[in-house]
Amino acid sequence: MERIVVIGAGQAASSLIVKLRSLGFAGEILLIGDEPHLPYQRPPLSKKYLAGEMPRERLLLRQAGWYEKNAVTLKLGERAVSIDRDAKSVLLADGEAIAYESLVLTTGARPKRFPDELGGRLAGVFMMRDLADADALSAAMGSGDSLLVIGGGYIGLEAAAEAAKKGLKVTLVEAANRILQRVAAAETADFFRDLHRSHGVTVYEGTTTQRLAARDGGGLDAMLGDGSTLGVDLVVVGIGIHPNSELAAEAGLVIDHGAVRVDEFGCTSDPSIYAAGDCTCLVWKGNLIRLESVQNAQDQAVNVAHNLLGDRQPYQPEPWFWSDQYDVKLQIAGLNHGYDDVITRRGSKPGSVAHFYYRGDTLLAVDAMNDPVAYNVVKRLLASGRSLSKAAAADLGVDLKAVLQAG
Ligand SMILES: Cc1cc2nc3c(=O)[nH]c(=O)nc-3n(C[C@H](O)[C@H](O)[C@H](O)COP(=O)(O)OP(=O)(O)OC[C@H]3O[C@@H](n4cnc5c(N)ncnc54)[C@H](O)[C@@H]3O)c2cc1C
Repeated sequence: MERIVVIGAGQAASSLIVKLRSLGFAGEILLIGDEPHLPYQRPPLSKKYLAGEMPRERLLLRQAGWYEKNAVTLKLGERAVSIDRDAKSVLLADGEAIAYESLVLTTGARPKRFPDELGGRLAGVFMMRDLADADALSAAMGSGDSLLVIGGGYIGLEAAAEAAKKGLKVTLVEAANRILQRVAAAETADFFRDLHRSHGVTVYEGTTTQRLAARDGGGLDAMLGDGSTLGVDLVVVGIGIHPNSELAAEAGLVIDHGAVRVDEFGCTSDPSIYAAGDCTCLVWKGNLIRLESVQNAQDQAVNVAHNLLGDRQPYQPEPWFWSDQYDVKLQIAGLNHGYDDVITRRGSKPGSVAHFYYRGDTLLAVDAMNDPVAYNVVKRLLASGRSLSKAAAADLGVDLKAVLQAG
């Protein structure tokens, strides 16, 4: 194989090309990205970078010299607009056609917008996906006094935390019955609701945002489902993402749940086209899943690199995730899908709490708040196909590290 073309220059693309070179691939690698930047990490955009505590250069996954040294041809600020599978060619927005032998889609996802007709495009309304979003929000937070966050998922909660730390008056409105409804147990939601309230954030749950309107003299009015109107300077929308799968769909590749369907080798329905990261979905343990995380972007891309070079290996996700809010580091190991019980372990050290998810007696996942031991132990237990009894999870007298070492 002589030429691998990659569309989408983000987290997965970076892991893929680094791995291809480290595995000794000596052919051509061409990376197409529609952002003007070298591949960078997104998590700090709603954390340290937004807080102004991380310089821009540190976001880069590899410095410019690495691409030169490793003979990676970069086409940045260029959008791929179509794929001609018969000709094995990618068309760019500027009209250039790029031939490939193998193609990898790492096009990521984009945030769901608050509907345009309800005020989603008004000045003062921000999204959180890329560097431009973070720069715009950061600048606006410097001059605004109050912020509404629409959506109580991790990105909304992190933006709320950074704004509250900067002294803005923050209100968070979640349409579902509670924050983190889609991703975490009520116990974890309770923890983060209390945390935010203790930092002065007003949290409304089971409350929709009906529309946004520009206010005379600046700022926005948010009309809420409970009939109230909230006047704010800024709005951040964090209501989930759409996988960027249109390019694949228009090329006739199989799409499922809005994402590019890949098999356990990261291959799409075309044997010459692979995909990795947020744009994909795959079957794992009998369920079709989408994993929106750095872990998946990295590991799936590394797996694709092996498979492209003929070292066929099925991808076995070992999900992990983190979120930083105020002085709390949340670390999640495993996937809680299908849980029927949650066991709480409080206070392994001051201020720490861990929620262990079970289906029957089988350990599925943990949400560990300031509890790296619980996180690390569960991660390693799951990786080795082991469980942990509920009694041991709940009992502070049980040393979790000793359970792990007991084998
Ligand atoms: C603010 C924020 C905070 C996050 N925090 C965490 C966290 O704490 N922990 C965690 O695990 N995950 C976190 N994530 C998620 C994580 O960043 C993503 O899962 C990861 O970036 C996915 O990598 P990817 O390569 O699939 O997509 P991306 O990194 O999004 O890269 C895709 C790239 O493809 C480009 N592209 C799309 N279509 C085209 C096209 N047609 N032509 C050219 N280029 C194209 C996109 O513009 C983008 O640059 C966070 C995400 C955000 C936005």
